[in-house]
Amino acid sequence: MPESTVQPKIRGFISLTSHPAGCAENVGSQIDQIESRLLSERADTTIKNTLVIGSSTGYGLGAALTACFGYKANTLGVCFEKSPDNLKTGTAGWYNSAAASHRAKNNGLLYKTINGDAFSDEIKQQVVEQLRHGYGPIDTLIYSLAASRRNNPLGEHWNSVLKPIDQVYSGKSFDLRREEISHIEIEPATDEEVNSTIKVMGGEDWEDWVTLLAGENLLAPNIKTVAFSYIGPELTKDLYREGTIGRAKAHLESSANTIHAVINQHPGLQGDGSGGAWISVNKAVVTQASSAIPVVGLYMSILFRILNNRGENESTCEQGIRLFQEYLMHPAPIKTDADRRIRLDNFEMLAEVQEQVARIWGDITNDNLAELADWPYFKNEFARLFGFNINEIDYDKPVEIDIPLNN
Ligand code: NAD
Repeated sequence: MPESTVQPKIRGFISLTSHPAGCAENVGSQIDQIESRLLSERADTTIKNTLVIGSSTGYGLGAALTACFGYKANTLGVCFEKSPDNLKTGTAGWYNSAAASHRAKNNGLLYKTINGDAFSDEIKQQVVEQLRHGYGPIDTLIYSLAASRRNNPLGEHWNSVLKPIDQVYSGKSFDLRREEISHIEIEPATDEEVNSTIKVMGGEDWEDWVTLLAGENLLAPNIKTVAFSYIGPELTKDLYREGTIGRAKAHLESSANTIHAVINQHPGLQGDGSGGAWISVNKAVVTQASSAIPVVGLYMSILFRILNNRGENESTCEQGIRLFQEYLMHPAPIKTDADRRIRLDNFEMLAEVQEQVARIWGDITNDNLAELADWPYFKNEFARLFGFNINEIDYDKPVEIDIPLNN
């Protein structure tokens, strides 16, 4: 088995390497936090089986770890990661999933991951087989894909793009390579690009998963399913919420209502009426998906400085804990906004926080960047996604990189 030293090779919003021990350390500290927040308090409340689509990083990982280590759920994840290849490291999501599986085994829990394209029939069938033989019907389904492309068996494919609709977006952004504020202009999407983005990031595939698993009798009565959305501030509205991704999110939100009705009308699923489908609108966090979005890096650097000062800058794991503790596992009916959405973005969207962001956004230049935005924090969080900048790790020490996905 090869051992080698792994150094960061970060280019803009792409990291060419991941550190296996650093990723394991990240996962371990999230699990410690989940256990200390949930286990003592809710020892009586458990989930039997959880499926997380998009489980290896970001919000999907936070939810999968919370279900497994906080509620002792037998957890099955699906992700699309690269395995280690000789001296080339695997992707961070590979090592995160491996670390979660390893820790689960040591704790007498079940955490397995299937790696492959969640849109494909082949991976859907693998999940059906794994659930049928190793788990049983699921009572929680988290849908957390952030994908750039979807293929179908007929050879068609769609790409997701981040573009405004019907207008040019023009505004400040942050050039991650040059580490300076830049001005960007993004041309409006074509109709085809809008439809393609909805195909990839809308709710069609979430509905397909629910239909398939219901047909295979792999959904338990009172099943709860959640997909994640984002709304964000006025200043990114033309590009995000009213752009192509926003259209896809609107579709995802309408799929939640369709699935909710299916669950609550299906004699085998409706149970006591506590199940259903919800959208959880989460806060902005640094993930591989969000870092690739122009404008958002600068917005997050400003936002995080404000939220950190207020002690309200939650991580993906803290949002996962809150989703389960205050909503999915809470005995009361699930609290939502008027559009039936769970709102975990409350600290970010607070009027006084957003007013402060907007003021800084207007004033910020390269000269006062260090004073008005916490770019080093953003950069550090980004490096940590790949297991770097972690105090406990000696990056000069060779490490095993060929680590199996499942134990
Ligand atoms: P992420 O990049 O950290 O995770 C994406 C996950 O999807 C990974 O596990 C990846 O392996 C998996 N994946 C991608 N394509 C796949 C495929 N074809 N088949 C199987 N797995 C695949 O992303 P994230 O930021 O955690 O985003 C997850 C969801 O949360 C998205 O719907 C996103 O819009 C939403 N969200 C994100 C933010 C944010 O600030 N990051 C805020 C609110 C909501």
